[in-house]
Amino acid sequence: MLNKKTEDQIEIKGKRILVRCDFNVPLKGGVITDDTRIRAALPTIKKLSSEGGKVILCSHLGKVKNGPNPGESLAAVAVRLEELLGKKVTFVDNDNVTGPETTAVVAAMQEGDIVLLQNTRFRGADETKNGEGFSKELADLADSFVCDAFGSAHRAHASVVGVTKYISEKGGDNAVGYLMEKEIAFLGNAVDNPVRPFVAILGGAKVADKLNVISNLLEKCDTLIIGGGMAYTFLKAMGFEIGKSLLDETKLDYCREMIDKAKKLGKTLLLPVDAVTTEAFPDPIDAKVETKVFAANAMPADRMGMDIGPKTVKLFGEAIRNAKTVVWNGPMGVFENPQLAEGTKAIAQAMAEADAVTVIGGGDSAAAVNQLGYADKMSHISTGGGASLEFLEGKELPGVMAADDSRRRLVAGNWKMNKTPSETKAFIAEIAPLVADADCDVVFCVPAVDIIPAVEAAKGTNIGIGAENMYFEEKGAFTGEIAPNMLVDAGAKYVVLGHSERREYFGETDEGVNKKAIKAIEHGLIPIICCGESLTQREQGITLDWIRKQIRIAYYNIPAADVPKTVIAYEPIWAIGTGKVATTEQAQEVCGAIRKLMIELYGNSVAQSLRILYGGSVAPANAKELFAQPDIDGGLVGGASLKLDFEKVVKPE
Ligand code: PEP
Repeated sequence: MLNKKTEDQIEIKGKRILVRCDFNVPLKGGVITDDTRIRAALPTIKKLSSEGGKVILCSHLGKVKNGPNPGESLAAVAVRLEELLGKKVTFVDNDNVTGPETTAVVAAMQEGDIVLLQNTRFRGADETKNGEGFSKELADLADSFVCDAFGSAHRAHASVVGVTKYISEKGGDNAVGYLMEKEIAFLGNAVDNPVRPFVAILGGAKVADKLNVISNLLEKCDTLIIGGGMAYTFLKAMGFEIGKSLLDETKLDYCREMIDKAKKLGKTLLLPVDAVTTEAFPDPIDAKVETKVFAANAMPADRMGMDIGPKTVKLFGEAIRNAKTVVWNGPMGVFENPQLAEGTKAIAQAMAEADAVTVIGGGDSAAAVNQLGYADKMSHISTGGGASLEFLEGKELPGVMAADDSRRRLVAGNWKMNKTPSETKAFIAEIAPLVADADCDVVFCVPAVDIIPAVEAAKGTNIGIGAENMYFEEKGAFTGEIAPNMLVDAGAKYVVLGHSERREYFGETDEGVNKKAIKAIEHGLIPIICCGESLTQREQGITLDWIRKQIRIAYYNIPAADVPKTVIAYEPIWAIGTGKVATTEQAQEVCGAIRKLMIELYGNSVAQSLRILYGGSVAPANAKELFAQPDIDGGLVGGASLKLDFEKVVKPE
């Protein structure tokens, strides 16, 4: 789930919207040889233009080592874009990118107009070092900013990251575009929420390029396949003779470490069992070569592995065909040479035949899949090489992080002491298809013994599972308690803290809730922190003071950066399980007061990214109106979450 503002959530009509695209396309003699990246940006541009935005596009192209030059101008992109859109694109041929000439063109724009600025890298370090001046100049051109450049999202450059600060300062929005959303949905789901078995395939020349990817994917996948040049360092680490094959001596220990890690985690690590070899690297790359196949543990001293062999193709192919999710990054051999492309081709073919979600992680593997004609058989081919690799490493991409956080609606069920493990499995299986198309986060917080079966049943769905309570210690003599790391290990993602029933029957205090919230955050759990007043307190007119006190203590010592990782649930005690719902005005008044307090404590941007839920007899009949309030971002739902009718709370009509 991408918890970022998207272009669907910003004001478009009449607004100047700066869009960072990735138009870094290959050019030969001024001609674009592959326009995939331009096509990938079209949905965002079309939407912004057709809804009356003034669309100002920017991008880098090439490495631009020696300053502005016609060979790296975006002029050809403007022409191609105009053809693809069937609409005028005004190119501002200004090597300085910004300045009076650009400002004048932008000032003359009408609603729906599209302007393309010159290559942002023509500004050198101003761009690549995230320069404040250039960032501000870009922001001055626009009211809001949309980042749709997934291929550049791993770079903290001025046109990707720096600009967002100045857009925020003037009250504009920083959103992500459709391409970015799509990339993150495919890559993110494949890696973090895969339908299993999940097979990850890594290839390419150097182990050094993929150190963190190997380690991260080993933790997430069921089977890791390693091919390509990097496999030979692994084979050498296992004590095999690899002849003149590519070897990185400095990474032998690392490879042994990864082999051990796979064993410890109980993961399958597949390496080549044979290789197609040559005497030398083909020169030119597509030159005819004399090939011979050898077992991977008996390669002659004078030969080098150039592709995986037929037995390996069979071994890898079987694992891929049995998978439900496959992610691939890096070719299996020197696929640019037809005689050494068979292994790479076979992997692409196995993926095309697998009944699985298949994701190609950009760069060389994307080129290979395109060249070999399998592109339309894959679920998703990433447009980002380096960015998709960093994503697979588990890194946060600066270009994504710089966008404003959105308050995506969250509807969380709180089952209290209801449902056995077997009832849990059956219920989740039944409700999952009903809520699969929900436009919000769907969560069930369940009794401790139900967590594991619930997580199991929710695998591959959009349902998240949470606990109803936890302790703030990590382990020890605390009979009957459950530690945060236990919840994480069981697969829980959320935890309800300080529910009024726990406060009333089990003596929970605000101080205890605070300690638990800090621990939950530390372990990556999202705490749903409950607050609420009794009927007497409401009648005494002290509701807001009481809630403010609860929240102040619950957030004591929680830094601003952690606040968006929490959720607050306002639940008037008199409305819980009683059928008495607070009126929408009452619910909004308190949720609004909570937001105001969070603005005082943490500032506007943090408070605006925090989700505040309402809870108390939420049902299909009242959900829509409650959730439509400006400060209510969803609900914490008790009784109604135990029935299939919950579908109508999640998708209120
Ligand atoms: C709850 O348990 O948090 C709750 C709000 O219950 P109900 O929806 O049944 O009032």
